[in-house]
Amino acid sequence: MILKKVVVGPLGSNCYIVGSESNKEGMIIDPGDEAEVIFKKVKDLGLAIKFIVLTHGHIDHIGALKEVKKATGAEVAIHTDEAKSLQKQSSSTLLGLAYPTPLPPDRLLQDGDSLDIGDVHFWVLHTPGHSPGGICLSGEGIVFSGDTLFNCGIGRTDLPGGNSSQLMNSIHTKLMVLPDNTVVYPGHGPDTTIGAERRGNPFLHG
Ligand SMILES: [Zn+2]
Ligand SMILES: [Zn+2]
Repeated sequence: MILKKVVVGPLGSNCYIVGSESNKEGMIIDPGDEAEVIFKKVKDLGLAIKFIVLTHGHIDHIGALKEVKKATGAEVAIHTDEAKSLQKQSSSTLLGLAYPTPLPPDRLLQDGDSLDIGDVHFWVLHTPGHSPGGICLSGEGIVFSGDTLFNCGIGRTDLPGGNSSQLMNSIHTKLMVLPDNTVVYPGHGPDTTIGAERRGNPFLHG
């Protein structure tokens, strides 16, 4: 599996480019900003992008969506409960970022759906709490956790649609059930593991 992280935009959002070594198909997770930087990385890796997957619809994760969609022609996938955030952005004013032209998604995701790029397989975990249709993507011994779980942190729940008890439930029932050695690639900040968060994340105890 090919995996590259690109940190983009004023809020330091992690955009991930994932690909199959065997057939060079790829997907882009959360093209938050700086489309040119993302394109360059995709080109260097020689990937044909099949999906653009959005862990959720906040502006800092979708800022370069339109340009990336236009350049790759890839299918834009987002959870059903989050699709309306691509049409109307309440998070943009709250996060202080300009909102680009709305773009309808091509594919609506549900919990348990699979996303396959060549011989690389991921599935969708619906993890509401930070936002209603937030997802994590699990597979290949790793999990992309969006803004649900961070290295020593958890997602904020004060934006529209946020819910702290839902967030804790999502983390405990969808993420903390994964093996300790699962590597966590969050939407912001450094990566971690499920085991390290189980032991050391102050928000998951008490
Ligand atoms: Zn967010
Ligand atoms: Zn974010």
